[in-house]
Amino acid sequence: MIKLRNIDNKRLMDTFEISSSIGRTENNGLNRLALSPEDQQMRDIFVKWLKEENLEVRVDDFGNIYGKREGKIKDAPSVAIGSHLDTQPCGGRFDGIFGVLASLEVIRRLNDYGIETDYPIEIINFTNEEGARFEPPMLGSGGVSNTFSKEFIYSSKDENGISFKQALQSIGYMGEEKNRIKNIKNFVELHIEQGPILDKEDKSIGIIGGIIGMSWVHVKVIGETNHAGPTPMSARRDALVPASEMILRINEITKQYKGLKTTVGKISNKPNAVNVIPGEVDLTFDIRHKDDVERKRAIEQLTKNFNEIANEYNVEIEITTEWNSDAVHFSTEVIDSITEATERLNYSSMSFYSGPGHDAKYMNSLCNSGMIFVKSIGGISHNENELTADEDLIKGANVLLHVVQKLANK
Ligand SMILES: [Zn+2]
Repeated sequence: MIKLRNIDNKRLMDTFEISSSIGRTENNGLNRLALSPEDQQMRDIFVKWLKEENLEVRVDDFGNIYGKREGKIKDAPSVAIGSHLDTQPCGGRFDGIFGVLASLEVIRRLNDYGIETDYPIEIINFTNEEGARFEPPMLGSGGVSNTFSKEFIYSSKDENGISFKQALQSIGYMGEEKNRIKNIKNFVELHIEQGPILDKEDKSIGIIGGIIGMSWVHVKVIGETNHAGPTPMSARRDALVPASEMILRINEITKQYKGLKTTVGKISNKPNAVNVIPGEVDLTFDIRHKDDVERKRAIEQLTKNFNEIANEYNVEIEITTEWNSDAVHFSTEVIDSITEATERLNYSSMSFYSGPGHDAKYMNSLCNSGMIFVKSIGGISHNENELTADEDLIKGANVLLHVVQKLANK
């Protein structure tokens, strides 16, 4: 049994400070868009750090950067750890970045003590996780996992018409397809929570069961535009009144389904004039649950209710699902190793599902994956004020170190 050690706190925080200075905004946040000059600068330093640890560095055809530390078993699959170094335009210093730099600290610590593992360990920086410059998000992990085709990824353009492929070439990070990670045993991603749960419950570590599934459903309510004065109440086909009942119904249904979250964040009313009876209303609702069956049942029930409401008000409706993303359930092998590490380190923890997507979502289709969350103060994220206390960062990195030593040994 290998004696488990903890990370070097000061070195981790010093490394984090260097990252926080690359693309720094006035308000101490970061603007480090994917494949920008700032991203290039960060990548160059990161590659230098990987080489200093004697890792074998590769870059694939999506610009994902890998650093591999060999294990004792020849040609064995890797335990991969990492996240992303890109940010939103007014992003924080922690989102994604911390997971990559903590992974580097894990490698450094294993090297400090000359600890060998049975399986190789690979650190990964995924390209364009944020989706702020090139849509959709998670193009690097989506490419490696064959979620998106190479043509699709390369043709994604930023607002200036520059394609992903051109941007990749211009910063010198166009690598080769053969460098993509293939032989992989696990992927573990350490990330800030980007939500309020750990902070509210005052727990240090989130043991993530998976990523909740979601749908966006568009409802068009078609009535008849008419004058607000002469038209009798009984003769109206007002589209907005039934739409309002539908919105209330979308909210109320969450009381029937434990863990269901619904939001109507987008609505349009035509013609939207004070003295005109609304003739057409469009609304889109976002609906999320960790159980796909429950989410689909709730959508079916809402569809039935909407038809009843439409009949009552003599309007027509069209319901279309604009987007579906099924839930991802992480591997029990990884979840158990995180639980064990947390207990061994005597850190408080709790289990829940992630609302936002992460690179681990796509990596889970390639190998047994999982995620460790640390506290985001006030749940604030994608914001320059994003903050996690040093103490919590250190705890997260220690859990990662212990998890890696567990998964990388027989
Ligand atoms: Zn992230």
